[in-house]
Amino acid sequence: MARIDDCTVFQCDRCKTIKWYPPTDEDGMKEWYSTTRYDANNAGHEYLFCLNCWQEYLNKLKDADNAFDSWMQNAGVRS
Ligand SMILES: [Zn+2]
Repeated sequence: MARIDDCTVFQCDRCKTIKWYPPTDEDGMKEWYSTTRYDANNAGHEYLFCLNCWQEYLNKLKDADNAFDSWMQNAGVRS
């Protein structure tokens, strides 16, 4: 088919990868992730990530979660 109308186009906010999907390709669209990140000023920022960038971002979140948990559990302790 030379022409397909009504496609959904995704572009990763990090690596700028672009992919498009016909309406029937729901599995392909599930490989994209929308998320909200809050910065140090408590301002929310919306991002769309491809699967690869999402997995890298998850690893950063897990590191941040661990650091936060450690910080929460050590109130009053000075190193
Ligand atoms: Zn990406």
